[in-house]
Parts: sequence; C-alpha cells; structure tokens
Amino acid sequence: MYYLSTRDKSVRVSSAQAIARGLSRDGGLFVPEHFPSVDGGELQRLCGLSYAERAAKVLSLFFDDFSHEELLSFCRKAYGDNFDTPAIAPVRAVPGGPALLELWHGPTAAFKDMALQLLPWLMTAALEKIGEKRDVCVLTATSGDTGKAALEGFCGVPGTKIIVYYPVEGVSDIQKLQMTSQKGDNVAVYGVFGNFDDAQNGVKAIFSDRALEERLSGMGYMLSSANSINLGRLIPQVAYYISAYCDLAVSGEIAVGDEINVCVPTGNFGNILAAYYAKRCGLPIKKFICASNRNRALTDFFETGVYDRRREFFQTSSPSMDILISSNLERLLFELSGQDDALVRSLLSSLSEKGVYTVPDRLRDAFSTWFYGGSCDETETARAIKDAYKNHGLLIDTHTAVGWDVCARYHRESGDNTQTLLASTASPYKFCKSVLSALGEKVPDGIFEPVGELLEKTGAPVPRPIRELENAAAVHTSVLEKDAMADSVLLFLSQK
Ligand SMILES: *Cc1c(COP(=O)(O)O)cnc(C)c1O
Repeated sequence: MYYLSTRDKSVRVSSAQAIARGLSRDGGLFVPEHFPSVDGGELQRLCGLSYAERAAKVLSLFFDDFSHEELLSFCRKAYGDNFDTPAIAPVRAVPGGPALLELWHGPTAAFKDMALQLLPWLMTAALEKIGEKRDVCVLTATSGDTGKAALEGFCGVPGTKIIVYYPVEGVSDIQKLQMTSQKGDNVAVYGVFGNFDDAQNGVKAIFSDRALEERLSGMGYMLSSANSINLGRLIPQVAYYISAYCDLAVSGEIAVGDEINVCVPTGNFGNILAAYYAKRCGLPIKKFICASNRNRALTDFFETGVYDRRREFFQTSSPSMDILISSNLERLLFELSGQDDALVRSLLSSLSEKGVYTVPDRLRDAFSTWFYGGSCDETETARAIKDAYKNHGLLIDTHTAVGWDVCARYHRESGDNTQTLLASTASPYKFCKSVLSALGEKVPDGIFEPVGELLEKTGAPVPRPIRELENAAAVHTSVLEKDAMADSVLLFLSQK
C-alpha cells in the first residue's frame, strides 16, 4: 500500500518512507491511499487476543513493508510491563454514562504513551528499510505531555538521540520535573526562555537550517521529529479503538456488529482522526463527538464550515487541548472531499495566508453527517469532574472532563442512545490542583502535597510514574535563549 500527500496525490511513498520522513516536502501530510478492511469475522478473532497482538494485527494492515513478526515484537516491547495494567488500554463501563477508554496507564500517565512507546521501534526499523545509515536525532518542542512521552519512548533505543525543549513559562511543576529528571545517556532536555511558540519556532528554525543539516550529517546524524503528524504516531492509535470495541463485545456491552459513538477530547485532532480511520476500516462507529475546551476553533468549524484561527488564545485547565490550529484536520479534509488534493492545497494556503478558510457546502454536509462538535468552558469542565465523581464514582482529569461534558450535551440535544466510548486521555493525578478545586476541596501548595490530598480525599490509586517522581532529582537544569538552541544540538551530538 502507498501513502499519498494530502497536498499532492502524485506523491506516493511506502509506509517506511512515510514514517521516516514525517512530513511530505510539499507541506502535506501522508495518508493511506485506501483503507484496509477489518470485517466482523476479523473483529471476532481479535477479541481473543492480547492488546499487543491486536495492535500488531492492525498495524500490519497498514504497514505492509514490515513483517507481522517484526510488528508483533515491537508491540510486545511497547505494550508490556511498562504499563500498570496488563489490559494496557482498559475499557471501563459506567452505568448511565459513556464507557471510558483509559489511555493513561503507560509510563507518563497520558495517552501520548500509546503511540510514543511504539514510534521509536517503528522509526528505527523504517530508517533501516530505506537504507539510512545515519543515527537519528529527534527534536521535540513540547507544551507538556508530548516531551516526557517522547523521552520515555526513545530513552535507551539504539541508533537514536532525543532532545526536548520546553518553555520555562509554559509547563506545570509535575510536567517539568517529569522531564528534567529523565534518565538515559541518549537524552537531553532544555528549558527555553519564553512560551511554547518560542520553543516551537526554535525547533522549526533548526529543521530549516541547511548548513546545520550538512554539518550534522557529517557527524553521522539526521534530524527527525516525534510530532503527532507522523503516521507512526497516528496508526498505533487506530488499534486502541478496535481493541476497545472488542472489549465492549467481550464484556457483553455490545454485540459484534453493533454501532457505537466515540467521543474524544481534542487538540491537534490526531486522536479523533484515528477513530475515523478505524471506521474507514469497517469499525461500526455512528457518530464522532469532537470535544473542545474554550479554544473552540473546531466546534465553530463543525457548526459553520469556517475554520478561523484569528481568535483569542485561552490558557485553560486542560492545557494539552489549548491549540488554535489542529494540524490533523487536514487529513480529514482530504478524505471527506473524496481525496481532492487541489481543494486541500487551496484551503490550507488560505489558512496560512489569511488565517481562515471556508469549505464548500457539500464538504460541510459530509462533516456534519459524521461529526458533532461541542465545547465547554472552565466552569463546565469543573462541574463535569464533580458530576463524574459524585454521581458515578469516577475520578477523571480535566481533559477527559471536557469530553464528559460534551458527551452529555450531545446526548441531550440528539436523544441518541447509542453506546458511547469516551477517550480518557490523562490520569487525574497529572492535574491534581484543578481536580481538587473542581471537587470543592482545598488545594495545598507545593508539587506533591496536592497529590497526597487527592489520594486522601478519593482513595484513587496514584499511578507509579507520579509516585516515583517524588524521589526524582532534576538533572537537566540548563535553560537556553531561543537563539542558542541550534548550538545545543551540536554540543550534545558532539559529546559522544
Ligand atoms: C495531547 C492530548 C490531548 C489532545 O489529543 P489530540 O490528538 O492532539 O487531539 C488530549 N488530552 C491529553 C491529556 C493530551 O495529552
């Protein structure tokens, strides 16, 4: 199977090339030329398998220049006892509410682990397949969750180095300590003076620096990124929707063949797009409920067909969804327009030149057939945390709470009673202060005092990675000016 660029269909590459390259040279994203089929019989067979086995089956449908054995061995490494439950991504049915797909049982307690535990194996194998001899150095700018998940994923992987840049003004205390205490010889972590955009722009500048590229190449390195537009991050996410459907069938919540709805708290549109890909493979999903916080560019888009990033940016209690441009939406535009690459090209160039685009009516109709967009503000997010806990005994984080609220809103507006699967994207212990205050409890100062308080008040188990952080020492303490970032790459890579 080939992968095409969303902005030029005549660009056709193999899966290994797509994973190794990340982005197409024309600025487009790589997408499958067609979708493999997973029929009812195959779903039945998957029901009897472990998570790693299910994931390997799904991956092998997409990545046909990797052998099934190869993918299975990667999945066993990625989804093993580094997770705190053998189910890896368990589904928790909630009477009178959506079923929760818990995606935060991995080493960093957020859903990014589901893809980033696997990506390093996919990427190093892909580079070998395309004959790349250089080692890869992954550069990542992070607003919090991605950086730590990428560090955990690439730490100790032969043939790779990873450098993470986080904005000194932009991450929570827990997130910062998670990164600065990272172990491993092939990792580096730097604070950057400024906000997330400063760090992100610094990384972009490094990627477009041809002189630096040549110098690094002479030293035996090529640069790559662990950003969520890489196919190697997207396809592993398709697997957990298919796995969750199997779990719902095994537990008797549904029968194989029944339709479900899927609700996803959304930022860059990667997670919900993976659910749409699962549908295109044949998973019976009726409606995609796209949940946003106060940064509601997507909600407005589903309502009006106009995507407008010229708006105020809000910092919210669900920071991983604070985003104005949802990059992966481009892949959905490509699919729902019938792979109209010329249309995608013109919409995206309008977005970068004018900050806005409007889709044609027939495309807007296609969107509203499948997608429902909803958003909630900070008060509603807090209320959702309280409702889930008081009325259902469920402790959820701020991102999942946005999904919880929008799910209920969709249910009220539509009267649709289809079983709904809600992606639960982070452990509540990553966002203790907001969760405590939503529950009406007092919020102590400090990094770990709120963790103790939330444990005492709710008795919900603290995930191992958060527990262990209490004994962790910050070792990566350098903070850089933005224009010193390129030098930091040279310095780190010349050390060994
Ligand atoms: C990244 C993230 C999201 C948003 O996921 P997208 O794939 O960017 O839509 C939601 N919740 C949490 C906790 C995240 O870390």
